[in-house]
Amino acid sequence: MNLSFDPDKIALPVGHFVGGELIAAEGAIEMRRPSDGKAYAACPVAGADMVDRAVESAKAVLKTSNWGGVRPRERTRTLQAWADLIEAQAETLARMEALCSTRPVAQLVAGDIAITAEQIRFFAEFADKEGSELAPTDDTTLGMIMSEPYGVVGAITPWNFPISMAGWKLGPALAAGNAVVLKPSEMTPFSAVYLAQLAVEAGLPAGLINVVLGDGPTTGTALTGHTEIGKVSFTGSTRAGSAIMENVARTGVKPMTLELGGKSPQLVFADADLDKAAAAIAGSVTFNAGQACVAGTRLIVEKRVADQLIAAILEKMTAVQPGPTWNEATQYSPIISERQRARVDGIVRAAAAAGGECLTGGGVMDDPGYFYEPTLIANVDQANPAIVEEIFGPVLTVQTFETEDEALALSSHPTYGLASGLFTTDLSRTIRLARKLEAGTVWVNRYSRSRDHILPTGGYKRSGIGKDLGREAYLANRRTKSVLISL
Ligand code: NAD
Repeated sequence: MNLSFDPDKIALPVGHFVGGELIAAEGAIEMRRPSDGKAYAACPVAGADMVDRAVESAKAVLKTSNWGGVRPRERTRTLQAWADLIEAQAETLARMEALCSTRPVAQLVAGDIAITAEQIRFFAEFADKEGSELAPTDDTTLGMIMSEPYGVVGAITPWNFPISMAGWKLGPALAAGNAVVLKPSEMTPFSAVYLAQLAVEAGLPAGLINVVLGDGPTTGTALTGHTEIGKVSFTGSTRAGSAIMENVARTGVKPMTLELGGKSPQLVFADADLDKAAAAIAGSVTFNAGQACVAGTRLIVEKRVADQLIAAILEKMTAVQPGPTWNEATQYSPIISERQRARVDGIVRAAAAAGGECLTGGGVMDDPGYFYEPTLIANVDQANPAIVEEIFGPVLTVQTFETEDEALALSSHPTYGLASGLFTTDLSRTIRLARKLEAGTVWVNRYSRSRDHILPTGGYKRSGIGKDLGREAYLANRRTKSVLISL
């Protein structure tokens, strides 16, 4: 089957999805295809009234459907039917997503969409397996720790993996018995609308998933500040995470999960399998053109193998072929927008001005799409902008060390602690450093997630609060009530 398609022939669900209906709205934000820069749609911006309508719809359906109170196995089965439908419609979904985003169509079908369907099944299984507990009290009382859904969860997602990020929020929130009002990124909103349409088709009560389109300042602020939202679940930049905390504090306290930015180090010791390390490191900064929160963008390598490793990484980084996201063969993605590409380029230039030396790349590609060259920068100290800033592009820095303590000191970032990579064959060092690395994830002799959805993901420091994935994400969508009965 050939997944390549003509981007001019794809119909998109342009509108908010509230109460199970697509509500057409006038577009306000011009949208351009990252792969060729062509304008293709305009994103509507939901105001406070539309957000209110979505929240009311979610509240109403929780009552009429009793989603949080039905036999939990029913929730499991309905969500699994939705996952099946997502898989069955993978190509349609992939075309919509590839058209708007930086995700190549083949990677979407084999990766993002297949994984999202499986994660929904994974979370659906918690519905009838995690529950309330009896508390160990004396025999004159009965203590119960009752577990309950929050009600309506307000979720906000970024543009870098639109379907996956929507799945991370929707799967656990719905399995845990909540309804969701989701605001996808204004740059890639339509796949979330289609996901919600598929949910209704699969038998989820209409109004359980509502999708409001719009930007952060208008729609996002209205959603996170809404007093009928039980919990906020956000993935995006640390800057927006701070703004959301402020807004939530100002409008009334509510629980929050924040998955924020990263600037993750990859430590390579001389005893590592250098070929494998080079493949993992080059892959992590070229995958989605570095537009991944966990991208391992700071290489920290033992000095005596640095030249050998850098040569192997350069070979792999420069082999990637850019192409439009609608071609099946494409592996190397464009940057999401011209503005974001200019930001990447600006940081690379600032890095060079501060003494950084570009070993490869360092410029925009000659292409109508927003492609940026895979870039490797040496000669950087801890104050260099390429070390300090989350670039969110295909830019790797390299620093060297001679001792383990030096490696550890270089790995520590003043702001971020999302993920880290460690390449070594020394078991004691592995355990020692896994304990000391300041990050929510440590990958050893690999730099990627597996398909074991049980491993939570989330940040230390300003990379976030709370976790997505794993049991933790399910539990984060429920609250507990203590009940004590005198007998
Ligand atoms: P962004 O913060 O600009 O936007 C993310 C979402 O938040 C969008 O939907 C946006 O409209 C909304 N938003 C922005 N300001 C807001 C506000 N004040 N109130 C409410 N909503 C607001 O991020 P982005 O550019 O879309 O995505 C890239 C960022 O996301 C990077 O920093 C990346 O590291 C992070 N990210 C983190 C994870 C993780 O799991 N930690 C995963 C993916 C992406």
